[in-house]
Amino acid sequence: MREFDYIIIGGGCSGLSLAYELEIHGKLKDKTLAIIEPREEYKKDKTWSFWKVASHNFDDCVKKNWENFSINIPTKTNHLECVNYPYQSVDSGLFYEKVNTKLKENNNITFFKNLKEINLKNSFIFNSVPSIKKDHRNLWQHFCGVEIETQNDFFDDSIFNIMDFDCDQRESVHFFYTLPYSKTKALVETTWLSKMNDSSQKDYDKQIKDYIENHLNLKNYKITYKEEGAIPLFYPLNEATKHKINIGTAGGMTRLSTGYTFLNIQEHSKYIRENIESISNTKKFQISKKYQFLDEIFLKVLEKHPKKMPHIFFKMFKSSPKTVIKFLSNKSNFVEDLSIILKMPKWTFIKALFY
Ligand SMILES: Cc1cc2nc3c(=O)[nH]c(=O)nc-3n(C[C@H](O)[C@H](O)[C@H](O)COP(=O)(O)OP(=O)(O)OC[C@H]3O[C@@H](n4cnc5c(N)ncnc54)[C@H](O)[C@@H]3O)c2cc1C
Repeated sequence: MREFDYIIIGGGCSGLSLAYELEIHGKLKDKTLAIIEPREEYKKDKTWSFWKVASHNFDDCVKKNWENFSINIPTKTNHLECVNYPYQSVDSGLFYEKVNTKLKENNNITFFKNLKEINLKNSFIFNSVPSIKKDHRNLWQHFCGVEIETQNDFFDDSIFNIMDFDCDQRESVHFFYTLPYSKTKALVETTWLSKMNDSSQKDYDKQIKDYIENHLNLKNYKITYKEEGAIPLFYPLNEATKHKINIGTAGGMTRLSTGYTFLNIQEHSKYIRENIESISNTKKFQISKKYQFLDEIFLKVLEKHPKKMPHIFFKMFKSSPKTVIKFLSNKSNFVEDLSIILKMPKWTFIKALFY
């Protein structure tokens, strides 16, 4: 069986981002790489959105940038600007196409469907398959989104809506998210933060239909694409060893309070590429402990007081948009952290320290 210098398990977002980063920096000229990916074909299956607080390799896969956004609860709306850190949506179809075209140019890179097809003994492994045990205590961000098209101009595509809490909460945390790509096209997503212990919140199609037709007041539209997923708001159980690093969701790249992962994956890929020659001895890359600690408290509050969350999110965005964006994207300094923390209901959060 063939041996390789590097093996990437899972050719999804993090596996392909890493392979691309290594390839464009010439790190695979004299090294061999096997990518293990079971899917039969690559097609658009996700839309990765984030505030662009750092550069990345996929600007040409961005569907749209926004410099304005809004958040609302039933009685109030807040409009915010994000000129310094535009919000971007990366189309996974364009991403897969770009990366796979590039990787095909290098004969040192080979795709396999199954790990059993190769010899792992002398390789360094990058694993992106999360090890997740079903546990009724775990929180998830689960969602379903549809891209819709209208015949006439309907959307204001200069502004997106990050969270619309003016909807059924069902003792949980629920919001809609709308990304207008043009005046006639938008992604509308229903999102829940909950333990997903049963399927009662998964009547996604009905929720979306009702929101589009009775809330956005749009009757004439067609659905052109649909995506569904669940992001764990807890760290998977994967352990690193001397010859294995976990990447992507498996590697703890998700910011637990928000589900944002894409840009952390890009930063992790860059870190690995910079240290690839001594990767076995390189310090683990992780989301700073400060955010891990703050997110843990935040999620405890969310679990205990779901009804308070729309107001808590709304209040958080009362800080300057630059500060909130930096905080939510792991880029804030102490003063910015403090300004967010002071916006939170103090007793609720202090009590959460002792749950
Ligand atoms: C629908 C959806 C939308 C999202 N939107 C956003 C967003 O807007 N912004 C953001 O920051 N994050 C978002 N996320 C979270 C995160 O960015 C994505 O989940 C991202 O794809 C994570 O990358 P990954 O490499 O860890 O996992 P994946 O991209 O899922 O890659 C894992 C790969 O492993 C393969 N695989 C599975 N089993 C095996 C096996 N046994 N052996 C080998 N390979 C295997 C899979 O086929 C897959 O290709 C979203 C997640 C989902 C599900």
